[in-house]
Amino acid sequence: MNNDIDDLRQQFPQLKRTIRGQPLLYLDNAATTLKPLDMIQALNSYYSNDVANIHRGAHYLGDQGTSFYESSRETVRSFINAESRDEIVFTRGTTEGLNLLANTFSSFPWNSEDEILISAMEHHSNIVPWQLLAQKRNLKLKAIPVTDRGELDLDGLRKKLNHKVRVLSLTQVSNALGTINPVEEIIQICKQWNIVTVIDAAQSIALGLVDVQKMDCDFLVFSGHKIFAPNGVGVLYGKKKLFSQLPPFQGGGSMIRNVTIEESSYLDLPHRFEAGTPPIAEVIGLGCALEFLKKQNLVKIHENEKKLTQIVLDFIRSQKNFRLVGQTNQRAPIVSFLISGTHPNDVGHLLDQQGIAVRTGHHCCQPLMNRFGITGTVRVSFSIYNTEHEAHSFLKALDKVQRLLL
Ligand code: PMP
Repeated sequence: MNNDIDDLRQQFPQLKRTIRGQPLLYLDNAATTLKPLDMIQALNSYYSNDVANIHRGAHYLGDQGTSFYESSRETVRSFINAESRDEIVFTRGTTEGLNLLANTFSSFPWNSEDEILISAMEHHSNIVPWQLLAQKRNLKLKAIPVTDRGELDLDGLRKKLNHKVRVLSLTQVSNALGTINPVEEIIQICKQWNIVTVIDAAQSIALGLVDVQKMDCDFLVFSGHKIFAPNGVGVLYGKKKLFSQLPPFQGGGSMIRNVTIEESSYLDLPHRFEAGTPPIAEVIGLGCALEFLKKQNLVKIHENEKKLTQIVLDFIRSQKNFRLVGQTNQRAPIVSFLISGTHPNDVGHLLDQQGIAVRTGHHCCQPLMNRFGITGTVRVSFSIYNTEHEAHSFLKALDKVQRLLL
């Protein structure tokens, strides 16, 4: 078990690079995380030695690739505590997982009275696919309101529930505000109304918050790139009973049992939803990233992330010109703020000049920004390799930016 952040940092080669002559201070982890050496080497090794297509049983390398790929499925299963490997489908990411669900739910016998429920703090990728479904099937799309503190309004939720609501799709953690939503409680409420529950775990997966059996959600999605794995791979978890009722999303090789010109029959879960040659190296990389994470002292790591978040929160609260957007105490290591009289992009630009990477803008949450009457924020997000020294360097730089702009 690895206890030391300095040791951990050694495993992320990108942390050694400089930006504009200064050491990189990477605080845009909610957008994507940096990659550990083990994972990079796994990709290198696959492309140097092990390339072959999988699931064909054609030769040694094909079988070896299949076994690597399927062992990543087992790693994911155990990481999110799914009951069965069949419940784990590899996708291109959170966005594709949500589109898969919204598309296949279209086959359900719902009518124009039926409703889809999301929240006002969703990422666009958990809004637009449901809008497309609602338009296609003439359904109603409703959103749970968000309070001034940036939390879900649970009374507002209860008011929206009725027997017409068919599906709730909700983020576990807000990428824009950092709010951790009480998804377990909400899922329990939804069960009383027979509502299918979908959880967007894009932000929560790296925080040790995902246990699908404990959460008891029907579906859950996340992206590999936000948990130290490559781009282009993600996971869609679905409870077998419901998942196995969904029709195929994409047709092609590897998902069929038998094909004639007139019709086809399909494989069972999970292969039915993995049409075509999958992102083999990326899936192997995802397995490797999760194994890497399991070896770390996660309790200590998450405590450290909390501490850094608190340092930034204390500073922002102490500044008269700063506005904290999202006041929740149930917070992921994400902080969104504004400096009054300045544009977030200018703040981001001046931080960038000092080698600091933060995110500015609407964070793909325009309805949430509208809710707060703003067009965007500056967002800082920490990950496992960030240090107290970095948090203080960031605040020093921010203070400089404030004095330059005001
Ligand atoms: N949902 C949330 C909460 C996110 O933070 C993101 C990524 N910013 C997504 C969905 C979309 O993820 P991806 O772009 O990897 O598909």
